[in-house]
Amino acid sequence: MRFDRLRLNGFKSFVDPTDLVIREGLTGIVGPNGCGKSNLLEALRWVMGENRPTAMRGEGMEDVIFAGTARRAARAHAEVVLTVDNRDRLAPAGFNDDDGFDIVRRIARDAGSVYKIGGKDVRARDVQMLFADASTGAHSPALVRQGQISELISAKPRSRRRILEEAAGISGLYQRRHEAELK
Ligand code: ATP
Ligand code: MG
Repeated sequence: MRFDRLRLNGFKSFVDPTDLVIREGLTGIVGPNGCGKSNLLEALRWVMGENRPTAMRGEGMEDVIFAGTARRAARAHAEVVLTVDNRDRLAPAGFNDDDGFDIVRRIARDAGSVYKIGGKDVRARDVQMLFADASTGAHSPALVRQGQISELISAKPRSRRRILEEAAGISGLYQRRHEAELK
């Protein structure tokens, strides 16, 4: 599954609409400390359904909304749009007719997040499962946070197993089994 484009509006330091086109091959993001490199990776994780505020370096999920500066007022909502290339037809039924589609996550203060896939309202779980089935997502081992390498080295066997399961592409099945056991 390829990502073509990441658009941010009001997400963390990206107060103005920002459109990042992701071309074939390797993309490098460079800039001085605090310019928003990690925020970009967090936007990617967030639009894929991340629901732990701590993974966004915040206390609550609303902390992803632009909080304002001395010169700019805080925003009331944040939005991230991820454009997915679906030419490999990895998307689930109902979303699989198109060569590509947008995944949208939007949060408003005091109102929580809403998600859309290809213009249709969906649940967080639908977005999470779409990426889990494509062996990627907010918890993908391909997304390495700052400082995570040292955490991996000292990881307990259980969390190391999770990483291997993600790499093997069976985490979608694991989530479904967990839900079946709860029923
Ligand atoms: P480094 O090179 O140090 O890792 P970085 O380029 O990864 O830096 P980030 O951590 O992505 O930088 O960006 C940090 C900046 O984002 C800080 O200036 C912080 O104030 C700003 N920021 C984070 N959340 C918000 C928010 N909700 N509203 C406004 N600004 C925010
Ligand atoms: Mg950083």
